[in-house]
Amino acid sequence: MSGTRRKSWAEPFKIKMVEHLKMTTREERDRAITEAGYNTFLLKSVDVYIDLLTDSGTAAMSDVQWAGMMMGDEAYAGSRNYYHLEESVKEVYGYKYLVPTHQGRAAEHILSQIMIKAGDIIPGNMYFTTTRLHQELAGGTFVDVIIDEAHDTQSEHPFKGNVDLHKLQQVIEQYGAAKIPYVSIATCVNMAGGQPISIQNLREVRELCDKYKIKIIHDSTRVAENAYFIKVREQGFADKTIAEIVREICTYTDGCTMSAKKDAMVNIGGFLAINDWDIFEKARNMVVIYEGLHTYGGMAGRDMEAVAIGVKESVQFDHIRARVGQVEYLGNKLSDWGIPIIKPIGGHAVFLDAKAFLPHLPQLSFPAQTLAAELYLEAGIRSMERGIVSAGRNKQTGDHYYPRLELVRLTLPRRVYTQAHMDVTAEAVLEVFDRRDQIKGLKMVYEPEYLRFFQARFEPLS
Ligand SMILES: *Cc1c(COP(=O)(O)O)cnc(C)c1O
Repeated sequence: MSGTRRKSWAEPFKIKMVEHLKMTTREERDRAITEAGYNTFLLKSVDVYIDLLTDSGTAAMSDVQWAGMMMGDEAYAGSRNYYHLEESVKEVYGYKYLVPTHQGRAAEHILSQIMIKAGDIIPGNMYFTTTRLHQELAGGTFVDVIIDEAHDTQSEHPFKGNVDLHKLQQVIEQYGAAKIPYVSIATCVNMAGGQPISIQNLREVRELCDKYKIKIIHDSTRVAENAYFIKVREQGFADKTIAEIVREICTYTDGCTMSAKKDAMVNIGGFLAINDWDIFEKARNMVVIYEGLHTYGGMAGRDMEAVAIGVKESVQFDHIRARVGQVEYLGNKLSDWGIPIIKPIGGHAVFLDAKAFLPHLPQLSFPAQTLAAELYLEAGIRSMERGIVSAGRNKQTGDHYYPRLELVRLTLPRRVYTQAHMDVTAEAVLEVFDRRDQIKGLKMVYEPEYLRFFQARFEPLS
């Protein structure tokens, strides 16, 4: 098919319905960001041109998914969409039993309550906010066993999501296998910047866990993106399909929690899937308390249908290549212009290194928060701070945590924006980069007690 002259590729879909975007003036954006206290979380969506705040629940569903929405069987019990979802999950991931939930954190809650006892230890390849919180609420303690390279912005390790087997072995020896209900393995680790784990590493983790009879629970939220990286980076997988690789990943784990708002391209939905009958039985009983009957678990029939279809679309090669390819396209463009980003480029987002971008700003002038605000001012692009504001304060001392990384995350929704939007985004970042010396920082003028990054307010330093 492809000749040697043809280097470009385009999105593997065409547009059938459009949502108009408001084009704003600099004055309008000035007013909007001032009203929002220089916090992109407080902007109104209508004032945003290109929204790269998150890839969660922001995907464009396909025409087939929308058609599926019309086929919702809204019976209270035994909806046919539940059975379709069960069949999809079995086919794509291979886990035996399914419990639907309204989103990923509900599956985490149920699983944590069933599997974790007070005093337990849960090793994992870097924490995720809701996952760790539910482990803690169940009385457990999360211990990070990801390889050191994951914390190193300069490392270009191809599988920064890998588990450090020595760290894992040490945790097992220190606490004893009886205290470890499971090892928590995320694919395409979100907090590491969308970095994959290799099959080789998964096999070794499985072997070690088998030796001690420890289960492995998979956060499968971005498993298809991980499978794509395995196909293009790991020796021996170039000829395997994404579906085959996803299945293989799942065979090394005993069950999963899933936020279908990511890989599966729905606006709301999730599930828990597990091979162990006893855990399933408990989960099926518990979902009734918190979510709804075990054949809908907090989703409408139509939502389950959209997930059932989205799960299958997520493992189509053309889709996933374009999805990860779009992230790489944006990242490479920025990198080629000398703009500091985290490498390797992840599966769902490009991270700007705000410390290197604005080296003249001390961390207490909030460089990443400042950069996110400047990007909005420049072109109406919404991104997210991942730095000192997100890190919060030490409850004991009251001082800020000073994270090593000050990042601005540009997260790409699936199938929503075109390559032209990526060009505009990259050019806007470049414009801000060109005038970086003139950029002054921010001061915090309002700080809520919990998760301050959502609602904190700032003013420009004069
Ligand atoms: C989003 C996310 C979750 C939580 O899922 P929700 O659907 O937002 O509740 C869990 N794990 C990872 C890796 C995620 O990205």
